[in-house]
Amino acid sequence: MAEAHSGMVDRQALVDRCRAAFLGLALGDALGATTEFLLPGEIRHRHKVHNRIIGGGWLNLKAGEVTDDTQMSLCIARAIDQSGGWDARCVMEHFSRWLKSKPVDVGATCRRSISRYILKQELGRPYSDWDAGNGAAMRMVPVALFTLGDEGMLAELAVDQARLTHHNLLSDAACIVVGRLVQQAILGADRPALHGIVRELIAAHPKFQYHSYRGAASAYVVETLQTVFHHFFGTGDFEECLVAVVNQGGDADTTGAIAGMIAGAFYGLDALPKKWLKVLDPAVREEIDSLVPRLLGLAPIFQNREDSEEL
Ligand code: MN
Ligand code: MN
Repeated sequence: MAEAHSGMVDRQALVDRCRAAFLGLALGDALGATTEFLLPGEIRHRHKVHNRIIGGGWLNLKAGEVTDDTQMSLCIARAIDQSGGWDARCVMEHFSRWLKSKPVDVGATCRRSISRYILKQELGRPYSDWDAGNGAAMRMVPVALFTLGDEGMLAELAVDQARLTHHNLLSDAACIVVGRLVQQAILGADRPALHGIVRELIAAHPKFQYHSYRGAASAYVVETLQTVFHHFFGTGDFEECLVAVVNQGGDADTTGAIAGMIAGAFYGLDALPKKWLKVLDPAVREEIDSLVPRLLGLAPIFQNREDSEEL
C-alpha cells in the first residue's frame, strides 16, 4: 500500500483521510458521551436508537461538546506541532495545562499520572496491572498521523505516548494496533488487510478475541477494542458503525472515539455524516483542520520529498 503512494501521492486525498480519522474520533466522542455508562436496554428506552449528537449524558454536555478523548488527542497534536517532532515532556506539559483547566472529564489513571508529573516533573510511570484502561488508546490519532510511513516509529511512539499515563502490556498492544489500523486505513488498506492486523494482535494476546462478543463495552481496553472490532467489521459505513458502537453503552464516548478514528480513516471524509459535523464544536473542528496538515507535513511519508512543502 505504501508503494501505491510513493512518488505520486494524491496529497489532498491523504490529508482528507487523515482529517477524517481525527474528525471521526471527535464525532464518536461527542456522539457516545450521551450514552456513556448506560446499558443497551436503558439507551433503547430513552432514545430507541441513539443516532444524533445531542449532548447530555452523565456529563450534561452541550450538543457537539467533546470530552477527554478528543481533548487529550489535541494536546498531543499541539505538542508535536509546537516541538516540530516528538517531545514527551512537551506532551506532558500540554496534558498538565489541560488538567489545570478543569476539563469536564478526566480518566482516573490519566489524572493520577498527570498530577504526579505536575508535582514531581517526572516522566513515565511504573508497571501496573491496573493500567489496562483505554485512556492511552483513545488518543492514538496524532501519533498515527505524525508517524505515517514508518511502522517502526509508530510502534515506538505509540508506547512512548501511552506510558506517559498508562504502563501496561495490554494498553501498549492496544495502542499499537489502533495506530496501525488507522495508518493502514489511511493508506488504503481493505477490510481483510485490516482484519489481518487484528488477527496478529489476537495471536499475540488471545484476550482480545471477539468472535463470541457478548456486549461488554467497559473502559477495560480489551472490552473496548472487542466492541470496536465487533462493530467495525460487522457494519458497512461510518454512521452505521458508530451508531452500533455507541448504542452498546458502557464507555461509549471512548468506544465511539476509537471506532470513529478507524472508520473515519477507512471510509473517508465524505462518509462523515454532515448532520453530525454541523453540530460538532466548531473550535474543535477548526483546530483539527489546522493541525492535521501540519502533523502530516512532519510525517516520514513526506520527508525528503518536494511535496512536503506543498501540504
Ligand atoms: Mn471521554
Ligand atoms: Mn470514556
